[in-house]
Amino acid sequence: MTEQELKGHIRGIPDFPKPGILFYDISTLLRHGPAWKAAMAAMAARVTPYKPDLLAGIESRGFLLAAPLALELGLGFIMLRKPRKLPGPTVGYDYALEYGTDRIEMQADAVAPGQRVVLLDDLLATGGTMAAGVALLKQAGAVVPAVAALIELSFLEGRKRLDVPTETLLAYN
Ligand code: 5GP
Repeated sequence: MTEQELKGHIRGIPDFPKPGILFYDISTLLRHGPAWKAAMAAMAARVTPYKPDLLAGIESRGFLLAAPLALELGLGFIMLRKPRKLPGPTVGYDYALEYGTDRIEMQADAVAPGQRVVLLDDLLATGGTMAAGVALLKQAGAVVPAVAALIELSFLEGRKRLDVPTETLLAYN
C-alpha cells in the first residue's frame, strides 16, 4: 500500500479536541484490516534496523502500534502511562505543555540497564510527548536507538526536539 493509499485511511477532524485544531484520526485506519496490516508492516521495516530488545508505547494510542508490532517481531512490550496507572514502584518524568505540565510514568523495573528500547506513538506533533518518553526511558537505564510514529506533523518540527533518530511513515504539512 502506498503512502497516499494509507493516508486515505486517516481522516482529519476539524476543531477537535478544541477549535482551530485539525485532529488526525487513526480510528479509520485501525478499522480497516488490510490498511492496519500494511501500516504495521511498514512500521516493522522502519524499526527492525535499530535492533530493539523491547518496544515501548505511549498511552494510549501508542499502545495500538507498539503492542502488535512487538508481538509481530517477537519482542517484549512496555507501557509509558499517565500518572498513577501502573502498579508497584514507578519512575516518572515531568514535562511542560502549552499550558501547565504533564507527567508520564513507567514501572521502575521495566528495563534492564543497557536494553535497547524503541519508543512508539501514533503521532508526532511538537515532539514534547516523545521527548519526555525518551528522557524517561534513558533515566531508567535504557538505550533508545530510535523513536517511531505513524504520523508526523512536519510543520511543527517536533523531530528537532528529539536527540534520537526519528522514523515516521506519513507526513502532513
Ligand atoms: P506532541 O507532544 O508531539 O505535541 O503531541 C503528540 C501527542 O499528542 C501524541 O501522544 C498524540 O497521540 C497526540 N496527538 C496530538 N495531535 C494529534 C492528532 O492530530 N491525532 C492523533 N491521533 N493524536 C494526536
